[in-house]
Amino acid sequence: MAVNLHIHILLFEATISRILEEVEEHLCQVFFGSRCSISHGDPSLLEKSYNRARGQYHSSRLLAQVGKVAENLNAHRILAVVPVDLYVPGLNFIFGEAQCPGRLAIISTHRLRPEFYGKAEDGSLFLSRVKKEATHELGHTLGLTHCSDPTCVMFFSNSIQMTDRKKPIFCPVCERQLRENMSRLRFLTAYNTPPG
Ligand SMILES: [Zn+2]
Ligand SMILES: [Zn+2]
Repeated sequence: MAVNLHIHILLFEATISRILEEVEEHLCQVFFGSRCSISHGDPSLLEKSYNRARGQYHSSRLLAQVGKVAENLNAHRILAVVPVDLYVPGLNFIFGEAQCPGRLAIISTHRLRPEFYGKAEDGSLFLSRVKKEATHELGHTLGLTHCSDPTCVMFFSNSIQMTDRKKPIFCPVCERQLRENMSRLRFLTAYNTPPG
């Protein structure tokens, strides 16, 4: 592959720090040797997209805010990780959103915790869900659309059961497409400054 994907994780979720290393390792595997950098986002940025009536955060507006911060970040892809509940008009909630293809993606950890569903805390289940949602949204940024295979990470999920049914990896068809997309430079041109 011509270019190693550089993913920057913009973290608005302090409690996720301890599992981040494993998420990075996973992203490195599924994106053919990508590397990750991390910085902490300013939590006040979230408030601009808060919808008081719904008690949720407008995902697309938040993504636009992230885009402004991302102008100063040197990476091919920016993945924002937020603890707040996201929605877009017309849907009760979303696990995440991404430009397809594009540079920006966002995931919410709010509904990935078993506690949200009244279940006992389960670190490994939470970790596997974060891996899946991060991989899914970053897959979109690299031009992948939804897959009809319910076990593929690119399958659309609007319930946690559907997320749990998926694997954290791409099916062979999506993986082939991903390889092809990543070998075409137009999918990776968003780097502000080329790495030294
Ligand atoms: Zn999707
Ligand atoms: Zn697939």
